[in-house]
Amino acid sequence: MWSRWESPTRVICFLSWGTFRMEPSRMSGDNRKKRHLTAVWEDREIRIPLVELTGVKDGPTLSIVAGVHGSEYPGIEAAIRIVNQIEPNELRGRLRVVPVMNIPAFLKRTEAVCPEDGKNPNRAFPGNPEGSYTDIMANLVFEHVVKGSDAVLNVHGGDIFEALVPYAGMGRSTGGKTDKMCRELGLAYDLPFLVRFAVPHDSSTGLDLNSAVQASGIPSILVEAGGNGLLDEKNVQIHLRGFRNCMASLGMIDCECPREHKTVECISDFWRIRQTGVFYPSVTLGQRVSLGQDIGVLKDWFGDEIEIVKAERDAWIIAIVTTPAAVKNAIIYQVAYEQE
Ligand SMILES: [Zn+2]
Repeated sequence: MWSRWESPTRVICFLSWGTFRMEPSRMSGDNRKKRHLTAVWEDREIRIPLVELTGVKDGPTLSIVAGVHGSEYPGIEAAIRIVNQIEPNELRGRLRVVPVMNIPAFLKRTEAVCPEDGKNPNRAFPGNPEGSYTDIMANLVFEHVVKGSDAVLNVHGGDIFEALVPYAGMGRSTGGKTDKMCRELGLAYDLPFLVRFAVPHDSSTGLDLNSAVQASGIPSILVEAGGNGLLDEKNVQIHLRGFRNCMASLGMIDCECPREHKTVECISDFWRIRQTGVFYPSVTLGQRVSLGQDIGVLKDWFGDEIEIVKAERDAWIIAIVTTPAAVKNAIIYQVAYEQE
């Protein structure tokens, strides 16, 4: 009997919230299945590409979800490549890859949100099948990609408005087994920083993908490399190496995986501007700043100075908002500092 994965005919499952359809797999070699998760919201069809590679030997399931933010290209490109680079005969277990989740944002070059409903998908997990476009996207990924996984990578690449130092991120320590496994994944990705966020994101609309996954008991990390809407090869390679390193650390592939970084483990926080105006940063990416140091100037529309902005503590600058638009209380820097 055909499973839903292998049926040559379109399978339609009528669920209480509407119609969910699994398309027949498009086989492009043994054990490599390419298809879409689909659903309908109002008059729009939601389509999320999904590739599943099944190894010739048993092992864990790693899910790679890229393009939650559709304009973060290095992570998306790395996800597109990895599904065609890994061969089933070298794989133990299963690799699930969503090359780009938020296709409307990718196509419209939209930063941070899904243009269909203006929501940030990375604040919408685990999703809601009865919500709007973004909620349904998140729900599809959570139900059909995250569930059944042994680890999940939430792959980002710096948005259009930001430049950043590559880092892996996770929530504050909870001390449990899942937390320990998140840290191991974060170290395995081999980036300059592994950060824990000082303050949880506002969860009123939902969680970021990795926090929602971790809350369900599955280890998951956020990974960032890239920025400013650029598809640059250096950051694509950083993600590809990270994917392989994580797979090797889970025992899914053999990989010599030499480390390039002595990862610094830090707390991360965001510094915000206090007034609206035009902001001119005066520090560089990766720079170490000291408490009270000048880190930029805010001016008004006439070029007159409103405020010299000072560092709130000793820290590394790991992300800079590179657009000069400064709205009161908006983020201007992401910083990292030693654990207390
Ligand atoms: Zn992002």
